[in-house]
Amino acid sequence: MNIHEYQAKALLREYGAPVSDGRVVTKAEEAKTAAGELDGPLWVVKAQIHAGGRGKGSFKEADAGEKGGVRLAKSVEEAAEEAKKMLGRTLVTHQTGPAGKQVNRIYFEDGSDISRELYLALLVDRQTSRISFVCSTEGGMDIEEVAASTPEKILSFDVDPATGYQPFHGRRVAFTLGLEGQAMKQCVKLMGILYKAFVEKDMEQLEINPLIVTEAGDLKVLDAKVGFDGNALYRHQDIASLRDETEEDSKELQASKYDLNYIALEGEIGCMVNGAGLAMATMDIIKLKGAEPANFLDVGGGATKEKVTEAFKIITSDKNVKGILVNIFGGIMRCDVIAEGVIAAVKEVGLQVPLVVRLEGTNVEKGREIINQSGLDVIAASDLNDAAEKIVKAVKG
Ligand code: GDP
Ligand code: MG
Repeated sequence: MNIHEYQAKALLREYGAPVSDGRVVTKAEEAKTAAGELDGPLWVVKAQIHAGGRGKGSFKEADAGEKGGVRLAKSVEEAAEEAKKMLGRTLVTHQTGPAGKQVNRIYFEDGSDISRELYLALLVDRQTSRISFVCSTEGGMDIEEVAASTPEKILSFDVDPATGYQPFHGRRVAFTLGLEGQAMKQCVKLMGILYKAFVEKDMEQLEINPLIVTEAGDLKVLDAKVGFDGNALYRHQDIASLRDETEEDSKELQASKYDLNYIALEGEIGCMVNGAGLAMATMDIIKLKGAEPANFLDVGGGATKEKVTEAFKIITSDKNVKGILVNIFGGIMRCDVIAEGVIAAVKEVGLQVPLVVRLEGTNVEKGREIINQSGLDVIAASDLNDAAEKIVKAVKG
């Protein structure tokens, strides 16, 4: 689960990280008062969306030369004006995709004088199963570009969970970033703060780009992008309450309410599968047969008829779906439950596209019988290969 920059900064502030004073608004009428609560003489006006690259992004239907989603202002009035211009419009960045994201919140921040822009991130390294620090002197807007063209400018190292964070980790970051004096000391302290927050809040990703050195020589968190492990949210009510549902894919949101593992993709074949491994294999074979999956969906081991029905509804609500492949290996999951769920869903929402069903395992005979007697126009398949071929043929002709 992701949160907004202003929420991430509030959280990091609680842990003692250096962040500027700021105010968030959702309405244009609130803009002037909110901006007026900050000292100036520089105001930063920042569009809040769950995507980076706002500074270099552009608004849909922008006038020629119009600025992106991060703007500097020299007065309260100017800050409020800029906020009004951004609210309600759609911002497109290299992370939002061409559809962009609607800006519903604006964050005003007390502007900083920047001497250097650095890059810092903490993330879970899947290879080593450890928390990793990633840092670079090339902070600012384009870390992807740095990673591609000058990877030697990025340092990353893991922290041994048995020792946890140690000051030498912080000194290593400081040395890589070329920090000295007070900034070096602040860096050792800040890295400890960030590591603590990361572990305690079950973060998946914490990216600070840029981490700046101010003109006065102090370190400051100027941008913050934080993602949390969704499977650990049950123990963080405070974090869960920060969720902004308007930022999420409505199908994924619906799926999470029914505890379905669903991820929307861009293809044309909707998949309903049990087990993450089988779901991955199903997506692979669809690609192998020349089509693209419209989603990843693992209905889980103990899915009920209601859950299967909901999963089917989510798949059919996707306008890109031109065909559906149900691929179930009944182990704990029973094939008859899946069959009943599919039929209940089709009765409720109808079936506008071809449906291929491949069932195997527990109660498979019963499952096939239920489908055969339903009178539905279902294409039966005998195995995974056969199923993939049939659905791709039905969709592509
Ligand atoms: P992003 O484009 O979504 O990553 O948004 P950032 O918060 O990283 O802001 C983009 C850029 O705006 C930064 O890299 C800075 O160059 C600039 N910026 C942000 N805040 C300030 C500030 O307080 N003062 C100044 N001078 N520039 C800022
Ligand atoms: Mg940034």
